[in-house]
Amino acid sequence: MTTATIIGGGVAGLTAALALVQRGASVNLFERAAELTEVGAGLQLSPNAGRVLEALGLGPALDAVSIRSRGVRMWDARARPIAVLDFASRRPDARFRMIHRARLIEVLAKAVQASGATIRLSHVVDALPRDPLVIGADGLHSRVRQALNGTEVPYFSNQTAWRALISDPEPPLDGQGWVDLFLGPRKHLVSYPLAGGLRNIVAVAERYDWQAEGWSHKDDPANLQAAFVDFGGPVANWLARIEDTGIWGLFRHPVAPRWHDDSRVLIGDAAHPTLPFMAQGAALAIEDAWLLAACLDQISDQPSALMRFQQMRAPRATRIVALADQNARHYHLKGPKRIAAQSALRLMGRLSPERLVSRFDWIYDYDPVSQSV
Ligand SMILES: Cc1cc2nc3c(=O)[nH]c(=O)nc-3n(C[C@H](O)[C@H](O)[C@H](O)COP(=O)(O)OP(=O)(O)OC[C@H]3O[C@@H](n4cnc5c(N)ncnc54)[C@H](O)[C@@H]3O)c2cc1C
Repeated sequence: MTTATIIGGGVAGLTAALALVQRGASVNLFERAAELTEVGAGLQLSPNAGRVLEALGLGPALDAVSIRSRGVRMWDARARPIAVLDFASRRPDARFRMIHRARLIEVLAKAVQASGATIRLSHVVDALPRDPLVIGADGLHSRVRQALNGTEVPYFSNQTAWRALISDPEPPLDGQGWVDLFLGPRKHLVSYPLAGGLRNIVAVAERYDWQAEGWSHKDDPANLQAAFVDFGGPVANWLARIEDTGIWGLFRHPVAPRWHDDSRVLIGDAAHPTLPFMAQGAALAIEDAWLLAACLDQISDQPSALMRFQQMRAPRATRIVALADQNARHYHLKGPKRIAAQSALRLMGRLSPERLVSRFDWIYDYDPVSQSV
């Protein structure tokens, strides 16, 4: 195995560093931030990503800082039940985890530091190095993507997301909890518990004025409360407890047409940013990291290894990004279409709950670790 330069110390870059070092590569990772950390918010980590993290030896460390998810409970805006997607019962041996993003980064960073990889913080990569292998794990506004594909202009999805954490003293039963999804006309809200007595909230509403793409924008929690004032059940109580919230415009980016040349390759959001409506962005980044390391390990000619990597990854990433785009439309239906869609889901949930959950098997049952390269 070779020497790899990784640009970006997010989920994709750190996982790739660990996967490569474990296969004998020597790794230098550059991160522009002064420390390896993440904004305060939660992540759902589905079993397809969990299998990689477990194979890298991180299962116990993750279990110590996460809560097991049983699945998704869907409600309408007035908190009347629509359907329950019990993903855990369908695959009792696999783990869906709900985790604070900062905890995931800590677990990864600790393992990468112990692995012998070199991490350089506060280091913005401006001119791309001419190293034998450069991995662009540099996220949404990737330099490496730009170098390979030219400048691309994303377009605003007309959706704005708020993210917040509140304290939630009620411990979930048996260390397990549910993701609750409330669907209203032109808006929806997702919430789930996190370890350490926290609750994650993501609220998305259609707005036609442009919002910047990035979590550093703060908003007054009163704006979030006002936007979801018509939501029932526990929502008002949760929103009343928010002290601090960030707001972000959600943009759609096409999957990169070109992921590599002979010495540079993209992984994670740099290759395929996705709207968050399948909760698969970080999961795809983790899958990428494992499979890139596997391709480089098992195919000795580097250009062929990078070509094989894109061949293996692009169809799956494209399908998941498209599904998230589709959910963006379905979640926010209004009028008769919304009533019809929710009635159909209610009926299917009653008559054939298996059919409802099995639609996602191709995502969650995928095992990157057992893929043959
Ligand atoms: C609201 C919301 C909810 C989400 N929920 C989920 C979920 O439940 N489950 C899930 O799987 N995914 C979820 N995602 C998606 C997930 O957060 C991202 O897909 C994932 O974090 C991408 O990781 P990455 O490492 O590719 O990019 P990033 O996390 O963006 O990391 C890129 C890193 O590169 C660094 N960098 C950039 N440019 C340079 C440079 N020139 N020099 C040096 N360093 C540089 C940056 O500082 C950053 O640390 C969600 C996303 C959103 C918006």
